[in-house]
Amino acid sequence: MVEVSATFRERFWSKVNVRGENECWPWIGGVNKKGYGTIGPGGRGLSNLYVHQVAVALLGIVIPAGKMVHHNCGMRTCVNPRHLEVTTYSHNNRGENQNLADKLWGGEPLELSLLEKEISGRSRGG
Ligand SMILES: [Zn+2]
Repeated sequence: MVEVSATFRERFWSKVNVRGENECWPWIGGVNKKGYGTIGPGGRGLSNLYVHQVAVALLGIVIPAGKMVHHNCGMRTCVNPRHLEVTTYSHNNRGENQNLADKLWGGEPLELSLLEKEISGRSRGG
């Protein structure tokens, strides 16, 4: 099982403006120069993480090397999992996803089915 501290999870969601299920959920915490939301993982010597990657990872999914999280909505601060997609390696990726997996969860295998389940579950449940 993927283990994420409750503290980190709470800290993350406390900075998300959760709106309608199909609307964008803007990150209201820190944003980097490129306009992407970031959060500190809370450990010494760890660099900030992209919140759209964290949003996916919090569903229990590790983003493996060669994959990245893509915003289908184009809004860089959006963390609504329905708007995020794990895709193949892209031109603008520099390995941040691998770093995320390494730092937080130790590179467990990707299970896209879990993401799909989580998203469809949330959609049905409202
Ligand atoms: Zn969005």
